Amino acid sequence: MNSDILKVLIIGSGPAGFTAAIYACRSGLNPVIVTGDEVGGQLITTPEIENWPGRDDAPDGFTLMYSLQKHAEKLGAKLVNDKVVKVDFSERVKKVYLASGKEYCAYSVIVCTGARAKYLGLESETLYKGKGVSACATCDGFFFRNKITAVVGGGSAAFVEALYLTNLCKKVYLIHRRSSFRAEKVLVDKLLSLQESGKVEFILEASVKEVTGNGNMVTGIVYEKNNEQVNLPLDGLFVAIGHQSATEIFEGVLELNENGTVKTGFGCETGTSATGVFAAGDCADSVYRQAITSAGQGCKAALDVEKYLLENY
Ligand code: FAD
Ligand code: NAP
Repeated sequence: MNSDILKVLIIGSGPAGFTAAIYACRSGLNPVIVTGDEVGGQLITTPEIENWPGRDDAPDGFTLMYSLQKHAEKLGAKLVNDKVVKVDFSERVKKVYLASGKEYCAYSVIVCTGARAKYLGLESETLYKGKGVSACATCDGFFFRNKITAVVGGGSAAFVEALYLTNLCKKVYLIHRRSSFRAEKVLVDKLLSLQESGKVEFILEASVKEVTGNGNMVTGIVYEKNNEQVNLPLDGLFVAIGHQSATEIFEGVLELNENGTVKTGFGCETGTSATGVFAAGDCADSVYRQAITSAGQGCKAALDVEKYLLENY
């Protein structure tokens, strides 16, 4: 092996990336992690993680992810605060190009680029992004203290966002297109229990049609329910309708599923369509999408890399 070429490069610093790094370090593979814009991944802004095994103290996402980062660094992982903009996986030695202009060569790559928030796709929503429309209550909720907000969505993320906002806002609406929820029951029960206080109101079987505003800030939305359009005055709209895998840079390079996730199962569980390239976490998973399953897949990918390098170099 040429010492100028990395044994393994990990793209992404969420639960999958850091866990892959921890395992790769212990196998003596000296991994480099390119962190991307969001060091720590999606969990970083979450106020409470209640389902990470062994942490019954419900740490916030930053604390939990920082402990994974420290663990990986203590074992020798090198973090590069940069973003991958292009990859070339056509040769045995993989080439990875960063936004800064830097370039890495590696015998193997683990893709852990996770997912990012989806939006409704309304023109008015785009117009008011950052002016009252947000996909992160923990990041932007502070600006809506004692104001009226709504959260769109019926999954766990929407309920987490709504619960967080109830601590800050005068009133929070939860708007969902159906009358049943994908969210964990414990979260649904928590939010339902706040209805009586008048702080929370559910608007169900309704879809947001337009975001209204004064040019500078959101002033409300128009939603449709029972074929009727209703104006709802609001100060902020939080969109929590799921996440899209962050795999654009792999289009035409790796085989992707219809929903954009990286196809795996080539040669081993985490193997992709390019030999020597492995994928783990939300970027390759449209079903489980949990911190712990992503971490588990990161572990598997590192073990698959170790076997690949032993057999091929
Ligand atoms: P991510 O956490 O998405 O990390 C992806 C990483 O890839 C990031 O570091 C990003 O910077 C990097 N990246 C992306 N593109 C590039 C690029 N081009 N170059 C370099 N790096 C790149 N799960 C739970 O189990 N419990 C919870 O309580 C929980 N709460 C949640 C709350 C919210 C609001 C949300 C949105 C999700 C929550 N989840 C929770 C789900 C959990 O966050 C994800 O399943 C998990 O973070 C996925 O981990 P990952 O490592 O695959 O990807
Ligand atoms: P999700 O579970 O996929 O839920 C997305 C929600 O948005 C669904 O209710 C969906 O409606 C709705 N939706 C999707 N597209 C829409 C559109 N165009 N217009 C209106 N509504 C739309 O996504 P998520 O809540 O982001 O959660 C993602 C993953 O992270 C899940 O695996 C979840 O378990 C995990 N997570 C876990 C926790 C936790 O454990 N505490 C917290 C947050 C997230 P339908 O129901 O009608 O499809």
